Amino acid sequence: MRRRVLIIGLDGAPASGLFARMDSEFPNLARLARRGTFGLLRSSDPPITVPAWACMFSGKDPGELGLYGFRHRYGPGYAQQQIVHSGLLPRGMLWDWVARRGQRTVLLGVPPTFPPPAIEGLVVSCLLTPKGASTFTHPRGLQARVADIAPDYQFDIANFRELEDEALLEQALSGLRARFRLARELCRREPWDLFIMTDIGSDRVQHGLWGVSEGSGWGQAVRSYYQEVDREIGEWLFELADDVCVWIVSDHGAQASRGGFYLNEWLRRYGWLRLRDDSVCAPVLPLAQVDWKRTVAWAEGGYVGRIYLNVRGRQPEGVVSQGDIERVREELREALRSSAGGGASRIPMQVYAPEELYREWRGYPPDLFVYADGLRLRVFGGVGAQSLLSDKNDTGRDRANHHPDGLYICYDPGAVAHGPGQVMPITEIRSYWEAQLAGQLPNLGA
Ligand SMILES: [Zn+2]
Repeated sequence: MRRRVLIIGLDGAPASGLFARMDSEFPNLARLARRGTFGLLRSSDPPITVPAWACMFSGKDPGELGLYGFRHRYGPGYAQQQIVHSGLLPRGMLWDWVARRGQRTVLLGVPPTFPPPAIEGLVVSCLLTPKGASTFTHPRGLQARVADIAPDYQFDIANFRELEDEALLEQALSGLRARFRLARELCRREPWDLFIMTDIGSDRVQHGLWGVSEGSGWGQAVRSYYQEVDREIGEWLFELADDVCVWIVSDHGAQASRGGFYLNEWLRRYGWLRLRDDSVCAPVLPLAQVDWKRTVAWAEGGYVGRIYLNVRGRQPEGVVSQGDIERVREELREALRSSAGGGASRIPMQVYAPEELYREWRGYPPDLFVYADGLRLRVFGGVGAQSLLSDKNDTGRDRANHHPDGLYICYDPGAVAHGPGQVMPITEIRSYWEAQLAGQLPNLGA
């Protein structure tokens, strides 16, 4: 026996906001949840789009994948970084498992699927697709159909931090409609056993419009986006065969942003990072200005901060001896916890080493991950700022940061309704999909 599984991914959809308003504002999601089960999906560390989706569909954590972020470090050199691409995914992704069973998958916008991998089925690549990319589908012949069905298809919302509020919402909504139009058309016309669509618009709208124009919580603009999501899902469900298992999932949650913390500036002020010229002021760390021979650690910014120790024999101009890594790391962690922000404005810092987060770790993980104030603060990589704290974002308007609590809603036509289900670790959800595709009825009860 085989059953079909449809997974609709809403990037960054937070459990708190969505479940609290489900009954009043999202009737189609509420109906699915009532007839099935729903709960928190605990994101990866770090809780960001890449690697979180990769964790969900591989069943591996970021350490096992060697994928720690959107920018991927491929060597120990200071500048050895590239944008993540699909070639970094391991064998044995959920769609590979499906193919081995002689089944077929459709992937639409699932990160990271650029370049589109040659799977058994169809792929329309993800938000990582560069502007003007010559190949964004597998097989290539699908491109003409995408252009035909959804000429206005958007891989991502370009410049979402620069758009005016109204323009951002409008562009996100038209992107959403195009994505669902394409998804429903492929869903209808193509044979599939597993169908995965993810929408990045929810994440972009939250970053741009969180709190607009209500001041607290999601805000009216974000809620109107999710209402449209709910309506699109409702129309899709209406035309689906009644044997399909339907999942709504998010890769991480979101929360209001309080601004950011200048981590490299903090490292510089406390002597861990040395610049050739202390008057340098730059929005990202100018690697050429770093006096590596006197630098113990440097960092990268983002929703999560990443600290790298400058280790002798590992980095080109390393100074920390291999035997000192652990001691230096603990000193740094202690200093960051006790003095970040300076004086009265101390910021709660959660600082993690890879072995505290992962079963194993491959590639080039940071030596420490920094979650500033439970991720309410973004971490800035720049140097030269007057204050270590800013209530603004460094890369343009950003009203939301990420949160570890994503969500899932599962409607399994063969199972009885469960109501609230267990908290789902992101690396475990795949086993439920495998069970359903194999014709079993997995138990999601709390
Ligand atoms: Zn995001």
